[in-house]
Amino acid sequence: MVRLSNVTKRYGDFTVLDGLDLDVRRNELISIIGPSGSGKTTVLRVLMTLEQIDGGMIAIDGEPLTHMERGGKLVPANDRHLRRMRTNIGMVFQHFNLFPHMTALQNCMEGPVQVLGLSKKEARERAVELLEMVGLASKMDEHPLRLSGGQQQRVAFARALAMRPNVMLLDEVTSALDPEVVGEVLAVIRKLAREHSLTMIMVTHQMGFAREISDRVAFFYQGKIAEMGTPEQIFEHPQNPRTQKFLRAVLEAN
Ligand code: ADP
Repeated sequence: MVRLSNVTKRYGDFTVLDGLDLDVRRNELISIIGPSGSGKTTVLRVLMTLEQIDGGMIAIDGEPLTHMERGGKLVPANDRHLRRMRTNIGMVFQHFNLFPHMTALQNCMEGPVQVLGLSKKEARERAVELLEMVGLASKMDEHPLRLSGGQQQRVAFARALAMRPNVMLLDEVTSALDPEVVGEVLAVIRKLAREHSLTMIMVTHQMGFAREISDRVAFFYQGKIAEMGTPEQIFEHPQNPRTQKFLRAVLEAN
């Protein structure tokens, strides 16, 4: 469903992604772990087309994301292609980024109406269903500022899902939350993983959760995948000394 082939991304002289290869299967949940600065967030940003890549290629469901076909050749994607491809991909960030002047319901209706061209009625039905799914049926008419961090983050999930993406990208979605509301957001991710056919790529510092929920875990080091495997392989029997060292440090910190 998601394929990165030899992807390179540089900021000036600094190579953030260094010939990265990653294949994510349909309905798979992949967690990305690794030290700060290893390129984890950058992968999500290039998938979200918020950043251009300097080399390699990305495809979503077999179709090039960063490129398009012209006269039998692959050329860099134009804005129109990017806009169309972007609707396949949903993202939830560390900070909720909700529209502050809109209610929870309006936040979830905006994209489907403006970008997908749904009628208000269709968009409302879809939004109501999703807000119910994340447990916020009673908060639909509240503005974000009147909601707790956990509730705002659940609205952000409903808003992303309202676009019916094939792929969801989750970037440290619980890092900015108070500890007592982390559980309600993790519960939404569990539900999505179990009940909805959705491909998810999740950057996280929560090793326990990554271990519980992931199909596979990728350990990033200096812009590459140093090791990838099942949660058991990565957390119980890491082979790469860098993975071992990282996990030891994380365990000691906790
Ligand atoms: P991680 O998510 O693993 O902590 P990131 O993908 O956020 O790592 O960033 C990798 C590196 O790229 C960091 O060292 C960061 O300073 C650098 N970086 C990220 N964005 C930019 C930018 N816009 N300009 C310059 N350097 C950047």
